[in-house]
Amino acid sequence: ESPILQVEALMTEFKTERGIVNAVNKVSFDVERGQTLGIVGESGSGKSVTNLSILRLIEFPPGRITGGKVLFHDKDLLTATEHEILGIRGKHISMIFQDPLTSLNPVIKIWKQIAEALILHQGMKKKEAKMQAIELLRIIGIPDPQTRAECYPHQFSGGMRQRVMIAMALSCNPDILIADEPTTALDVTIQAQILELIRARRDQQQTSVIMITHDLGVIAEMCDQVCVMYAGRIVEKADVLDLFQSPKHPYTQGLLDSIPRLDRTGVERLHSIKGSPPDLLHLPEGCPFRERCDKAMNRCVSELPPELVLDGSSSPRKVACWLYADKEEAHAKA
Ligand code: SF4
Ligand code: MG
Repeated sequence: ESPILQVEALMTEFKTERGIVNAVNKVSFDVERGQTLGIVGESGSGKSVTNLSILRLIEFPPGRITGGKVLFHDKDLLTATEHEILGIRGKHISMIFQDPLTSLNPVIKIWKQIAEALILHQGMKKKEAKMQAIELLRIIGIPDPQTRAECYPHQFSGGMRQRVMIAMALSCNPDILIADEPTTALDVTIQAQILELIRARRDQQQTSVIMITHDLGVIAEMCDQVCVMYAGRIVEKADVLDLFQSPKHPYTQGLLDSIPRLDRTGVERLHSIKGSPPDLLHLPEGCPFRERCDKAMNRCVSELPPELVLDGSSSPRKVACWLYADKEEAHAKA
């Protein structure tokens, strides 16, 4: 079965007063049906912009998609008409954001907002849509959904609002759900409930999920494949087990080392990666990670590492790092 979504060499730039920022720089990945792809990286690495670009939600100016393809069922969303895109957004590809307050309308009752999506995408009549909206509130664990349906967004807690957003995103049984840091602002208990909700709906409906996060715990718990982004590029792509068992890119190794763990003395140690992400306006020549990398070689200073294909235990994996250049040749010859 071919991937449901294929992103190929996507490029998105932003014009700033100081110059052009290549926020997304030749990013490629596939999303398989019913699978969850994680995109992990620090803030500013291009995770959100990548996914906003997929749905053509980049505002011009200052943003602009300058290259690549986004194939959804073999249709390139980047060249689709505005009308075609409107038919796909929300209905086939839904997105949930970190801050549900900005996406919910403060002056419209909760049930009406959910019902609107159902009327728009599923052609339901108002009465049927209201019943379905209440049913969705029940499914996502809102207590006393009949009464709560009449509330306005500010009367809901942050966790409840986030669940409403997820209910809305899932109400149209999308083929793909894009979740951008869906649990970042929430406490741990609610976070677990939201992830469980996404997981359950995904498994029932064979939804594909793109999970954007800076939290490796969320990746480990939810994802099948992972892309690690750094400075607008994907630096490593692997099945989740391969990634955690043997991270290849020095940046990925640093990310995994920075997960707090208890050492033998019972003290929690947090190693963080030294240095800070590069200024996208002044990317160094060569490897964008080189100023933070303790394995940097001469070659890293002058040449951008290409994406190299390595053997993984369950599937091929990709890494953009010169450390593996010889290994790739070996693989290619074999
Ligand atoms: Fe480090 Fe060089 Fe690999 Fe970049 S290409 S991550 S600088 S070893
Ligand atoms: Mg973001």
